[in-house]
Amino acid sequence: RRSLKIGMLPADGIGREVLPGAKAAILALGSSIPKMEFIDLLAGFEYFTKTGTALPDETVQILKSECDCALFGAVSSPSRKVTGYSSPIVALRKKMDLYANIRPVKSVSINPEGRPGVDLVVIRENTECLYVKQETQTVGEHGKEARATRLITERASRRIGELAFKMALERPRKHLTVIHKSNVLSITDGLFRETVRAVPTLPGVDGKYDDVTVAEQLVDSAVYRLFREPEIYDVMVAPNLYGDILSDAAAALVGSLGLVPSVNAGDSFVMGEPVHGSAPDIAGQNIANPLAAIRSAAMMLRHIGYGDGADRIERAVDSVLREGKVLTPDLGGKSKTSEVVDEVTKRI
Ligand code: NAD
Ligand code: MN
Repeated sequence: RRSLKIGMLPADGIGREVLPGAKAAILALGSSIPKMEFIDLLAGFEYFTKTGTALPDETVQILKSECDCALFGAVSSPSRKVTGYSSPIVALRKKMDLYANIRPVKSVSINPEGRPGVDLVVIRENTECLYVKQETQTVGEHGKEARATRLITERASRRIGELAFKMALERPRKHLTVIHKSNVLSITDGLFRETVRAVPTLPGVDGKYDDVTVAEQLVDSAVYRLFREPEIYDVMVAPNLYGDILSDAAAALVGSLGLVPSVNAGDSFVMGEPVHGSAPDIAGQNIANPLAAIRSAAMMLRHIGYGDGADRIERAVDSVLREGKVLTPDLGGKSKTSEVVDEVTKRI
């Protein structure tokens, strides 16, 4: 077996603190998976402040030509406009055509206030919507006027819809909820909604999705229902911005953003990435929860065909959570990032 090459992009803040945990978990699998080669790649806001570029061409080049898959940490994108800066993760998703962000949110035993069980997956369209970042500002009669383009295409909506149906079919409950705001945005969200709902009628589908039940929900009331009765959701498919917001919201239901993994997936490449950001409020203290990053590594491995390895990592994470002794402060514990990593790798 040839070795596997994994591009590692820790980027900024706690991204640098949690990615080593993901690497340690993969290494703990030992010889049950092919030999792993980790290739450290540059990207991020800090790199931008030193060099004037947030995502060097070389990084994209190496990912495309040498890597089998990748892991991304987190990036710090300032809220003010910084000339010449553009978020490298948003750019990477587009450049590598990683059109789906798959975000499973599942409760283990740590359910604050005895909340009902959550077991859902948010499938977020990853290339368009407001994230095309075409913004302009002019001055009009009432002062400054800012505008943003929101792009929804049939192609992107169809491929994310196809993936959502496929994933729903693979899950026990086989239920899909299409998230939109077509009551207001009937043209853009209307196109998303109609295109996703039409997937079962596409040529070649031939009744394959007959077992999938489909519902739809306006995004605002979807958040409401998510908090009141999260158990009604199985697979949720959403345009980029709604999917981003919904998955952070769902993370609150399972105790912490530091638990929720994702993969950015395209037809020929996959990049694992925790759902959380660079968390400047806790960066540099070795207290960031590494479990989202570790679970992202497992998802990435499963995606490239190493489901057994992924299972072993996920079981180890679940058992650490269920036991509840070695936890970072976001989950009410006192342990350091590195102690949680050690506890997980010991169990792999
Ligand atoms: P955030 O996800 O970084 O943090 C939100 C809150 O959750 C903070 O209180 C943080 O301490 C906590 N948290 C997040 N991850 C945690 C972990 N692993 N362990 C323990 N606690 C954790 O979101 P934010 O504060 O809105 O954004 C901070 C920066 O991150 C911004 O610059 C933003 O642009 C960036 N960001 C990047 C990504 C990405 O890289 N994909 C995603 C979201 C935000
Ligand atoms: Mn987010």
